[in-house]
Amino acid sequence: MIELRTPKEIDEMRAAGSFVADVLTELTAATAVGTNLLDLDRLAHRRITERGAESCYIDYHPSFGASPFGKVLCTSVNDAALHGLPFDYVIRDGDLVSLDFAVSVDGWVADSAVSFVVGTAKAEDLRLIDVTQKSLDAGIAAAVVGNRVGDISAAIGAVGRGAGYEVNTDFGGHGVGRTMHGDPHIANDGRPGRGFPLRAGLVFAIEPWLMQSTGEIFTDPDGWTLRSMDGSRAAHAEHTVAITDDGPVVLTARSS
Ligand code: MG
Repeated sequence: MIELRTPKEIDEMRAAGSFVADVLTELTAATAVGTNLLDLDRLAHRRITERGAESCYIDYHPSFGASPFGKVLCTSVNDAALHGLPFDYVIRDGDLVSLDFAVSVDGWVADSAVSFVVGTAKAEDLRLIDVTQKSLDAGIAAAVVGNRVGDISAAIGAVGRGAGYEVNTDFGGHGVGRTMHGDPHIANDGRPGRGFPLRAGLVFAIEPWLMQSTGEIFTDPDGWTLRSMDGSRAAHAEHTVAITDDGPVVLTARSS
């Protein structure tokens, strides 16, 4: 079921959005050569506790997960594309890190992800991150009243494919509200003019992710982390967006 939010409810959702944005900014700044992924998760957990927020991940146990996630942050490094389960790993120079964070604040969820290179960056990694970000920007720009869900999907997919990447559509965007995953599903590629008509009050996460040289993924033995089939690197970008009569509002926008 697709739920529409009133302007007042969208206003209430801003608190969750800015909290998620601030924590991602802090985690990005805290990630350096030598940082342990478990310490990033602990820092995120501390901020959740201080804010009185609730993690959307820690008890998350969908049909594809081996057991409850057990952490509050997804840390996907290098060939890990999505759902990276934090483990005892120390960041190295040149690692491509994606952080995905979703919490509920005062009963409303926000979900966002960011990718960056730690230390010395390879041009091909920066390009992958840049194209992923541009896919997200194109998806957001298409999130306007009068368009359909397929227009967002088509806009996202066109950027990735246009840059020469394969676009995997196994996981994509989703409605966001009282819970983390609602309707509509927003595939990262598709045909324009198809799907649910976009209306003011729709709130959803748009989340393109791309891999350097494959469109195929597999699940790590940890039961969660999705890795590229050929070991090539992956990037992920995500924002929670509200459609309003004045255009899309990015609830998880980071100031820096
Ligand atoms: Mg997310």
